[in-house]
Amino acid sequence: MEIIRTIKEMQNLSKKLSSKGVVIGCVPTMGYLHEGHLNLIRKAKEISDFVVMTLFVNPKQFGPNEDFERYPRDFDRDYKLAENAGCDLIFAPDIIEMYPIGFSTSVEIQNITSKFEGERRPGHFDGVALVVAKLFNAVKPDIAVFGQKDYQQTQVIKQLVRDLNFDVKIVVAPTVREADGLAMSSRNTYLTPELREKANVLFNALEDGIKAIEGGCRERKVINAIMHKRLRTVPEIKIDYACAALAENLDEPDVFLAGDHVVLLIACYLGTTRLIDNALVTIPKTNVSKK
Ligand code: AMP
Repeated sequence: MEIIRTIKEMQNLSKKLSSKGVVIGCVPTMGYLHEGHLNLIRKAKEISDFVVMTLFVNPKQFGPNEDFERYPRDFDRDYKLAENAGCDLIFAPDIIEMYPIGFSTSVEIQNITSKFEGERRPGHFDGVALVVAKLFNAVKPDIAVFGQKDYQQTQVIKQLVRDLNFDVKIVVAPTVREADGLAMSSRNTYLTPELREKANVLFNALEDGIKAIEGGCRERKVINAIMHKRLRTVPEIKIDYACAALAENLDEPDVFLAGDHVVLLIACYLGTTRLIDNALVTIPKTNVSKK
């Protein structure tokens, strides 16, 4: 499997491949791969001819007090895992290649970024949008695959693609979970064994929310309270948010309507580790009677 480290080389290869009719699939990552990332590579391989995984820990999407420095990195491990999953090339630029001296451009996305992750992590989605725009201009993919694990991020990227006319099809692949339900994340390595055991409470809270909705509950605040109740069973937890919203635009009506697609979004600190998770559920058409 090839490694490319400069934007120019990446663009040249991409042009050559596209001129031959090769469909390029792109999987942007920050590395320290797990089964969630590998599933994106496999999905990309299914729907394209040539898979480029980008590997770049993007400083612009981390806040000043966040974990950029200690974010886990292991290139050799990532190389082997990506290759085994069917990746054809790793594009791994360094920070100076991406943001040379004099770099002056920012990308700001409004509305969809105003709440949840966007509100708690100011500037985060601008950093994501900037790096994804740059990666798309380097890799020139036909298709890019992202994980539902970062639900709001998928919405931000779809907005970016629409607004800036990127000729890229965005595909979202489902969240891959550990056996106990914890969503896989490179950041799970930060958890102590004791907290790791309790971390599936996020998944359990999402399940409680889904069950409530499927049982006929449509009131947003009641659904939120059900998720909070479950999360609070772990004393070490600090809830950032646990909210139901319309999947389409993250609006929060008081009452959801039959047929609404709802996303349940959770962000919590377990000790010093911040975890996020989400689930999609549709409000049932007929009001199921509550037992
Ligand atoms: P990251 O390396 O954390 O920036 O993630 C790179 C891509 O992998 C993003 O599209 C994430 O949404 C996706 N991803 C991360 N964790 C998971 C997971 N557990 N299941 C599916 N996709 C994931």
